Amino acid sequence: VLDAAFFVRWMTAAAAVIDREADRLTELDSPIGDADHGRNMQRGFAAVVTALEAEPPATPGAVLTAAGRKLISSVGGASGPLYGTLLRRAGKALGEEPQVSAQELRTGLSAGVDAVAQLGGSAPGDKTMLDALVPGVEALATSFDAAATAAEKGALATVPLQAKKGRASYLGERSIGHQDPGATSSALLFAALAEVAK
Ligand code: ADP
Ligand code: MG
Ligand code: MG
Repeated sequence: VLDAAFFVRWMTAAAAVIDREADRLTELDSPIGDADHGRNMQRGFAAVVTALEAEPPATPGAVLTAAGRKLISSVGGASGPLYGTLLRRAGKALGEEPQVSAQELRTGLSAGVDAVAQLGGSAPGDKTMLDALVPGVEALATSFDAAATAAEKGALATVPLQAKKGRASYLGERSIGHQDPGATSSALLFAALAEVAK
């Protein structure tokens, strides 16, 4: 079972891995975007950690809701509202339970992913964060490690895709041959989850 402290550890580990990988995320956002994804994610998750430390929420749902709200208010780019919606909707789905199972987390994140698709008007195959989020959430049915592996694989599989949504879509066919930065950061979120679950 996973309690609020586990979710705070997840968000803290996510902030740390994003911090380490920020330059790479920004580099991926250079050829097919505006070279700010690393900085956006860094700013957002640093704000999340500060908020969670200042006022530690009592339940898993409240942790994710607070984190999502903070991402929306602190990140200007497309990724802020999208990741914010992912976590807020997942938090709402977890309700006020003091502890949740891994399968409840999977169900909650699945609701969050649906909300991202709705907000973004996007679907898997569009070369977005969904290409890592969808397989990652699905593989959570197996294990945290399987989810991290599936999300990473999903991110790598964005390379040959043509972007249909977001800034990269403006490039048309020239978006082909580059890994999507948002799919890459989504894989990092699953990597952080697998790390704290060990
Ligand atoms: P911006 O494009 O506003 O600079 P970021 O660089 O922080 O924002 O984030 C870009 C990432 O957001 C993309 O790599 C993609 O994964 C994701 N993204 C953009 N638009 C959408 C969308 N409509 N649906 C899903 N994900 C999207
Ligand atoms: Mg960008
Ligand atoms: Mg931008």
